[in-house]
Amino acid sequence: MKLPFVNKEQLDDIVAEFPTPFHLYDEKGIREKARALYQAFSWNRGFKEYFAVKATPNPAILKMLHEEGCGVDCASYVELLMSKKSGFDGSEMMFSSNDTPAEEYLYAREIDATINLDAYEHIEFLKNLARFEFPETMSLRYNPGGVFAMGTQIMDNPEESKFGMTKVQFMQGIKDLQALGVKHFGMHSFLASNTVTNEYYPALAKQLFEFALEIREETGVSLDFINLSGGIGVNYRPEEKANDIAVIGAGVHRVYDEVLSANSLGNIKIFTELGRFMLAPHGVLVTRVLHLKETYRKYVGVDASSVNLMRPAMYGAYHHITVAGKENEPATQVYDVTGALCENNDKFAKERDLPEIAEGDLLVIHDTGAHGFSMGYQYNAKLRSSEILLEEAGGARMIRRAERPEDYFATLDGFDFEI
Ligand SMILES: *Cc1c(COP(=O)(O)O)cnc(C)c1O
Repeated sequence: MKLPFVNKEQLDDIVAEFPTPFHLYDEKGIREKARALYQAFSWNRGFKEYFAVKATPNPAILKMLHEEGCGVDCASYVELLMSKKSGFDGSEMMFSSNDTPAEEYLYAREIDATINLDAYEHIEFLKNLARFEFPETMSLRYNPGGVFAMGTQIMDNPEESKFGMTKVQFMQGIKDLQALGVKHFGMHSFLASNTVTNEYYPALAKQLFEFALEIREETGVSLDFINLSGGIGVNYRPEEKANDIAVIGAGVHRVYDEVLSANSLGNIKIFTELGRFMLAPHGVLVTRVLHLKETYRKYVGVDASSVNLMRPAMYGAYHHITVAGKENEPATQVYDVTGALCENNDKFAKERDLPEIAEGDLLVIHDTGAHGFSMGYQYNAKLRSSEILLEEAGGARMIRRAERPEDYFATLDGFDFEI
């Protein structure tokens, strides 16, 4: 049975203080996850996780990960700003952006974040950018094209992905950048998303490690680091098995020894930019049942909507739902669980087997700790929820307040609003 990290008693205490809906994060789980990751890669000197800020952009979460040794992966000016303000320095920031505006490159340089170049064409762009000085270390993003397959299973389709550069561009990019004074190089590649298998990272690593040998052969450059980026997934569905980071780390270690160490490239640092794997299971969306409705189906209307979690509406993504306090009751009912948007795809679940639900019940929507709150929006003038941290010591602390009408109106020119 898939159970959330909070029980009914804890939730009753929390909702007595903080009104629903809200995203709730589990400090203990987050810290343990970071430690397990570092343990799994402790064989590699210089290993570092650059947490993908877009997954959970909250300074309280970022600071916690910083304390556990993580850096950050940013893709925009404001993500860089938030990270800088949260105490990260440039050496702890990866700037893995794409289609990047000039000002963002300049700011990344100003704070000395490592630029991970998405496009070969941007070398010329940066060359022509007054005030941009090429750094000593740069990373390049690789896209091998074709399909990414493991055995007979196609995992994803890099050829259709807008990210990264081809092998030929990568090689030429290194040569061009060397001529511009860059001395140290890294490689980055993200080839499949939300993989629920312990084999993805080792398979990706093998491909990148072999490419590192080719790079040395053709350019004479021994890479400084290889960034395996994100893509390790989580078991959203109850029948799925969680990835085991110790097994994944050992799998990468094996191919590292076979390919890199065996060819005297055993100094290359391994980096990761995990978002989902680090945070998704350690956050839940807590929402209260407002109404029950029965027409051709049975509907449970809750006080959260897709603006708080768009993955089900956007991708048809599955998020498990627990009715707090009814964990052990049989799932005798079939419900659509909906929000209040004037949009029929505003459903957290369709035809889901659940125990009998009553108005006022608290629903816990699982695995919303990454790409949950952060993908939120304000359609129907629905406001963003608060974010609450369940602290390791047991208390709950608000780490972002809910939006108020005045926040929504704040950017309107000349609209003088007073409640
Ligand atoms: C989104 C993203 C990540 C994190 O991906 P997850 O699937 O959340 O692990 C890492 N790196 C880059 C460049 C990304 O765009």
